[in-house]
Amino acid sequence: MLDRPTTLKDYQTYIDGTWCNAASGKKFQTFDPYTGEPWALIPECDARDVDRACEAAYRAFDTGPWPAMTQTARGRLLRRIAGLIEKHAEHLAEVEVRDNGKLISEMLAQLKYLPEWYYYYGGLADKIHGQVVPVDRPDIFGYTLKEPVGVCAFITPWNSPLMLVGWKLAPALAAGCTAVIKPSEFTTASLLEFIKLVIEPAELPRGVVNVVSGYGAVVGEPLVTHPKVAKVAFTGGTVTGARVNELAAKSFKKVSLELGGKSPNIVFDDCVLDDAVAGAISGIFAATGQTCIAGSRLLLQDTIHEPFVEKLIAMARTAKLGDPGLVETQVGPVTTPPQYQKILSYIDIAKAEGARCVLGGGPAPKEEGGGKYFVKPTIFTGVNNRMRIAQEEVFGPVLSVIKFRDEEEAVAIANDIAYGLGAGVWTQSVRRATTMARRIRAGTVWVNTYRAVSFLMPFGGYKASGIGRENGAEAVEAYLQTKSVWINNAPGGGNPFVMRTATS
Ligand code: NDP
Repeated sequence: MLDRPTTLKDYQTYIDGTWCNAASGKKFQTFDPYTGEPWALIPECDARDVDRACEAAYRAFDTGPWPAMTQTARGRLLRRIAGLIEKHAEHLAEVEVRDNGKLISEMLAQLKYLPEWYYYYGGLADKIHGQVVPVDRPDIFGYTLKEPVGVCAFITPWNSPLMLVGWKLAPALAAGCTAVIKPSEFTTASLLEFIKLVIEPAELPRGVVNVVSGYGAVVGEPLVTHPKVAKVAFTGGTVTGARVNELAAKSFKKVSLELGGKSPNIVFDDCVLDDAVAGAISGIFAATGQTCIAGSRLLLQDTIHEPFVEKLIAMARTAKLGDPGLVETQVGPVTTPPQYQKILSYIDIAKAEGARCVLGGGPAPKEEGGGKYFVKPTIFTGVNNRMRIAQEEVFGPVLSVIKFRDEEEAVAIANDIAYGLGAGVWTQSVRRATTMARRIRAGTVWVNTYRAVSFLMPFGGYKASGIGRENGAEAVEAYLQTKSVWINNAPGGGNPFVMRTATS
């Protein structure tokens, strides 16, 4: 059971190694989605705080102990961060539950796994290097250097706050960058606790990690456009992502975007039925459907449609709604009031479009374990892929079931969408598994599993689901740039008016 003190916790933000209030002096309340009550006060930063944070991050990048540190020492520092997260995982998970209403079992699993990112990129830090290039001129010694891009702006959402910061911060620190983080206004507290319990005791040089808390456009836009920011890494909705991309492009910042999805979870009649049913449930009802990789389009082969839907409804009916702070709870509240309204409006849209609601279909009252921001696990059958409920991201516990005949049609439906983040395939045929994995246009394909992520496996989207990859060794490249160095060992210069090529 989560400890829920009733007095408001009063947070400060963290800029240039110092705890401080926002320049405005204002604070806003953050809410516990389960009780609907405010529980903490968060500094309301604006462009002035963004400027201070970016200048501090630039100073830390450019001068002082951080750029002087060896890559090996940076790696050690990252491993220290990992150890401190291990020590405080439970507390950090509880703060996240208080702020985003996700299940304690889910947030604890994330926090216990999170150190691996810092261990992994800590190990990678001193394996980053350029190479000697055999330039096609005998007198030239040529080599490349891998250098950090500079100050990075991280903009993160409310669904997995510290994990999604970690996916960015760990490779950025390994590369030698510094950071200014703008968390979601709905879930700032765990990041501030992370700074207090992990970043400060790890003794990073001041200014290497900074936080600007506050509202999306007020803080996010000055951050994305700040002249000292070299790179923006964003996770969130596609509309906001497009805006961030447009703003960042004006000053040629490097950008990576991890956006929404409408992922197909495709079940063939040669699957292990019970595994696929559990996979479909985990794809959409875990995390109350509030995940970018939600398997929100369930593509069912027509030959197993009826028995599968029957089993699916039976299992989804058993989902225990309730207090996300209890380990036995399986479906918690929706995190934010706008998100709650959005989910309900999509349920209405689906009904109006003629989809058949076979489970749920509205708010979950207190008597059923629900409460203020609860939506019943909802299943629509008879969905056709052109309906809005099949094309648009709901970001809630709402599943659209779509029938298909054969592989060809499954591929066509799966790819007939603006998004391309994830996909699931349930089959026992190796040929079918590998063919589908190749033909589906998405950044991740899971076969006979769903919703698995790892620090080792690249993650990101095709099409409108984003730009770039997080996780895995290649993610560090997003925080590096390559410099080419030419050293001439030959006397004399040749004709100064002609470009030097191998033949001149
Ligand atoms: P947003 O995309 O609006 O928010 C993501 C982050 O961007 C937040 O920190 C937000 O701040 C910030 N932000 C908002 N507006 C701007 C702006 N103009 N410039 C810079 N930063 C900005 O997502 P929402 O929280 O509103 O959720 C809406 C939708 O986004 C969901 O329905 C879902 O489709 C998708 N989403 C996807 C996630 C994913 O994991 N890919 C995670 C969360 C949401 P603030 O919170 O203060 O507004």
